[in-house]
Amino acid sequence: MVMSTSPEPVYPHKLRRLYWPFLALAEACREVVGTVAGSFEAGGNRYTVPRFAFHGPATSTPPIRLGVFALVHGDEPAGALALQRLLGLLVDEPAAATGYELLLYPLCNPTGYEDGTRHNRAGFDLNREFWRQSDLPEIGILEEELRTQQFDGIIALHTDDTCDGLYGYTQGRVLNENLLAPALRASAHVLPVDPRGVIDGFAAREGLIDDCFTGILAPPPEQRPRPFEIIFETPAAAPMTQQVEATCCALQSVLAEYRGFIAQGANL
Ligand SMILES: [Zn+2]
Repeated sequence: MVMSTSPEPVYPHKLRRLYWPFLALAEACREVVGTVAGSFEAGGNRYTVPRFAFHGPATSTPPIRLGVFALVHGDEPAGALALQRLLGLLVDEPAAATGYELLLYPLCNPTGYEDGTRHNRAGFDLNREFWRQSDLPEIGILEEELRTQQFDGIIALHTDDTCDGLYGYTQGRVLNENLLAPALRASAHVLPVDPRGVIDGFAAREGLIDDCFTGILAPPPEQRPRPFEIIFETPAAAPMTQQVEATCCALQSVLAEYRGFIAQGANL
């Protein structure tokens, strides 16, 4: 008699499986602190938006606070896996985060991730709802987080199923471009930069897009001075390991570059 073993269904994704490795790092390393940005109810279940902090070695100046956000679109897990990899690397080599307090949000859209969908379960693209008086619970949690944390920089990680390579959005700001261009160069040995002149409907050059959609995850409109903000995109068609590696290289590049700007007192 032949026993048939049916493979485990892909969906619903198990949320615990996503953030368990983060909790394991928090358990093993006192520089990693796992907490919850907020929680909400959907369909009788409670969903949390987890937050993992990494406190890099201190310097004589106050820490630079960066927020890195993944899985705003529930079907783009590469960013969350890249945050997991980055955190693992930093636990082994904390010096790479000297002077930083990193706040990592690997799961911004828990119902979308559970269902394997871009939108949340209510059918909304969360990345079009920010700072528009949305009453979606995920938006409320993340806007509150963006207000209270007062980040010096924000990085959003995404995946694009229509692009030919890595690219990102600078929102037309010099500081963002001065961080994103080196980040693309730092990851280009893993995956190529999208060379097209038009990406995602926007004019692009060497993987950099100045324009952007409205309603995206961004610092509070009133925050001054404006934090840097970068959106980094990997090609969904590429192998997951390469998307993760490329994103991780890009994040490490941003840490090194921005620290350099601060040290030089650059006014960009
Ligand atoms: Zn996305």
